Parts: sequence; C-alpha cells; structure tokens
Amino acid sequence: MSGKKKALVTGVTGQDGAYLCQLLLSQGYEVHGLVRRSASADVIDSRLRWLNIVSDIQVHDGNLTDISGLIRVVREVEPDEVYNLAAQSFVKSSWQQPLLTGNVTGLGAVNMLEAVRLEAADARFYQASSSEMYGAIQSPIQNENTPFYPRSPYAAAKLYAHSMTVNYRESFGMHASSGILFNHESPLRGIEFVTRKITDGVARIKLGLQHKIALGNLDATRDWGHARDYVRAMWLMLQQEKADDYVVATGRTTSVRDFCRLAFDHVGLNFEDHVVVDPRFFRPAEVDVLLGDPSKAREKLGWESECPLEQLVSEMVEADLERIGNRTGR
Ligand code: NDP
Ligand code: GDP
Repeated sequence: MSGKKKALVTGVTGQDGAYLCQLLLSQGYEVHGLVRRSASADVIDSRLRWLNIVSDIQVHDGNLTDISGLIRVVREVEPDEVYNLAAQSFVKSSWQQPLLTGNVTGLGAVNMLEAVRLEAADARFYQASSSEMYGAIQSPIQNENTPFYPRSPYAAAKLYAHSMTVNYRESFGMHASSGILFNHESPLRGIEFVTRKITDGVARIKLGLQHKIALGNLDATRDWGHARDYVRAMWLMLQQEKADDYVVATGRTTSVRDFCRLAFDHVGLNFEDHVVVDPRFFRPAEVDVLLGDPSKAREKLGWESECPLEQLVSEMVEADLERIGNRTGR
C-alpha cells in the first residue's frame, strides 16, 4: 500500500483532464485515467505529453457508455476521488449527434455515478457541469440559484447529468459535487472551440500560411477563464467536508469580436482585415450571453480566477505561434 490518495479521472486526454492530472500529481496523488480505445493511440495522449506527465498516469481502458467496464475500473482502482470530465463536449456537434451526446454526456455520467455507488460508495465524486445549462439566461448574472434553460442537446444532456449528481447526493448520501464551470480555455483547448480557432488562425496568418479566419456569431459573449485555474476549483470542491454545487467563473464577459481584437492586437494586426463571417458557423439556437457570479466559490472554497483574459489570449497565441512555427519551420 502506497498510502497515497487515489484519484480516477475520466476525460483524461482532454483539456481539463490534462491540467487536473498535473495538479493531482503535484499534490502527491496516485492518478488513474479512463481512456477510450482509439485507433490513433499514438496521438491521443498529446495533451498529457505536452505537460510532460504521460508516464506518471496509470491508464485504464473504458468508455462512459459501457457500465460493466466502468464497474471493473472502479473496482480495480478503489479511488478516493472520482472526477467525471469525459463528455461529447462540443455544443455545435450536439445538433448533429443528439443521441450520442445524450448517451455519453448525460447517461454516461449516470453510468459513472452508478459504478461509484456500487463499488466505491465512500469515494468523493465530481461532475463537470456547464454554464451552457443557463442557455437562454434567466438573470443577467448567473449563480447557483439561477434557473436553467438549456439551448442545445449538449446543454440538455449536461442538465440531466447535473440533476442526477444532485439526486445521488440527496438519495444515497454520496459525496457528489457538481461544478458549474463557465468557459475555460488554454493552449490545450480543442481546435474547434472559438478561442483556439482564433488563436490558431492568428498564428497562421502571422506566419504567412493563411489570410482569413471564417467565424460565426461575433456578438456572442462568454465569461472566459484559464483551465489551469478552473481545475483547482474542482479539486477544492472534493476537499470540503460537505458536497455541494458551485459556479466557477471570472465575473467578466467578453464578445467573440473583442476576443478576436485582443488576439490580433497581440501580433500587431488588425482583426477587421482578416475575420470573415460565415453562416455555416451559426447555431440553430444560440446562447447569446454568459456571465457567472463566483461569490460562493470565493467564500466557501477560497477560490479565485487568477489569469486575466489578456494573459490567457497572449499565452494561447504564443503557444500556437510556437507549435505551427516548429511544424512548418517558419
Ligand atoms: P474535451 O473535449 O477537451 O475532453 C473530453 C474528454 O472526454 C476527452 O478525454 C475524450 O476522449 C473523453 N470522452 C469523450 N467521449 C468519451 C466516452 N464515450 N468515453 C470515455 N471518454 C470519452 O473537454 P474539456 O476538457 O474542455 O472539458 C472537460 C469537461 O468539462 C467536459 O465534460 C465538458 O463538457 C465540461 N465543461 C467544459 C467547459 C470548458 O469550457 N472547457 C465548460 C463547462 C463544462 P478522447 O480524447 O478519446 O476524445
Ligand atoms: P461554447 O460556449 O461551449 O459553445 O464554446 P464555443 O467556443 O464553441 O463557442 C462560444 C461562442 O462563440 C458561441 O456563441 C458560438 O456561436 C460563437 N462562435 C462564433 N464563431 C464561432 C466558430 O467559428 N466556432 C465556434 N466554435 N464558435 C463560434
């Protein structure tokens, strides 16, 4: 017996999984990750490699849609803490794949809750809930008491998973917490999300590889923070004596247009010369504004968002310049 605390993380190959594992390792945890089988096994752990932690994590084959596999993994690992980060996480794709999104993002979370209830009922559980659940916002600033109004199959699936997490806490006394996280980004953000699409495009334009970026709705606003800060909030939630739900946000909202302006300013270019609007990137139903109130997380967890948006944008643009420069020799 190592005496170390054991954490099991689903979605370990994603943005948050990578940063969370880095944090848990720095706290002395034995870290286990659930990884779904892929024919591209050589590239799937690129984020863990970027953070130089791939060999420090014990990987287990499994898929959120396969409860028998989840039960097996939880039984083998005997975790003290379980972080359920895996999901079909891209809102736009959820209209193309509503049932898959429901299966993975919604029912998959319940599969995980069930596996933990059956095999490790004392383990602490974290569910990755989302500000997308507020959708057509019912209050200008959203906190834990704001009613939800999902606007996409993704948001509806997340709301089901969130409600079930609360239900398992109330029904079975499980230490199950839900973090309602507003958008958070980093150099490890998936390329299809708007922030990374912009910073990748800015780097390509600066290096002379392309001239334009095609985007959808430039008027949408989001409360954008840094993923590294946000995984700290996840961990803090599971260190509390009582499980609860928390909004995690910066309290500042910025339009996609202003994000473009900041990213192009960073390399001395004018965004209006390079950004074009393409209706292909509009959504069947839009979430126009998100702005979170993180007061509860600040008061109860002592959590603060530390990275200002300007610093986040610079870090992302610099990382893309380096990544593309290395690949193309520019
Ligand atoms: P990513 O899209 O970067 O990562 C998603 C992870 O889920 C990947 O590791 C992916 O594996 C895994 N996954 C997908 N489907 C399955 C499946 N069927 N079985 C097992 N694993 C699967 O998301 P983020 O890291 O950005 O987000 C983490 C979580 O937080 C997600 O649940 C997301 O919805 C939620 N969230 C994110 C926010 C954000 O702004 N980033 C805001 C609020 C909530 P693979 O590598 O094989 O694709
Ligand atoms: P989301 O908040 O989880 O949907 O995160 P995204 O980064 O995918 O989208 C944030 C906002 O940017 C949404 O309101 C989108 O409509 C808007 N947006 C504008 N253009 C684009 C685009 O080209 N790609 C993406 N992904 N979003 C875009």
